[in-house]
Amino acid sequence: MSKKTCEVIKDLLPLYAEGICSEESRTIVTRHLSGCSECSEILRGMGTEIRVSADRDIAVMKKIRRRIRIAKLLVGLYTDAACNRLFCLCRSQRKDSGADASM
Ligand SMILES: [Zn+2]
Repeated sequence: MSKKTCEVIKDLLPLYAEGICSEESRTIVTRHLSGCSECSEILRGMGTEIRVSADRDIAVMKKIRRRIRIAKLLVGLYTDAACNRLFCLCRSQRKDSGADASM
């Protein structure tokens, strides 16, 4: 295989690996891969990379979802505590003003 052809194929490999290149490009890359072990090896490496990064993305998404759940819980607790404090403050002010009115 010529070095130039391999360089062009290497540029196309990411698109080929993700299945988003044109049908014509796919045919050319597939034909090239059948005769070029170097480019085939690069494609195999890309497959592994894509799988590993997808697993990593899922783990990160799970971690983010857990943090969002905890944040929602904390917001709920703080809101509840703030409402209780406000309620108690209003009640105590009403008692104070009630005491003033009776005097
Ligand atoms: Zn090649």
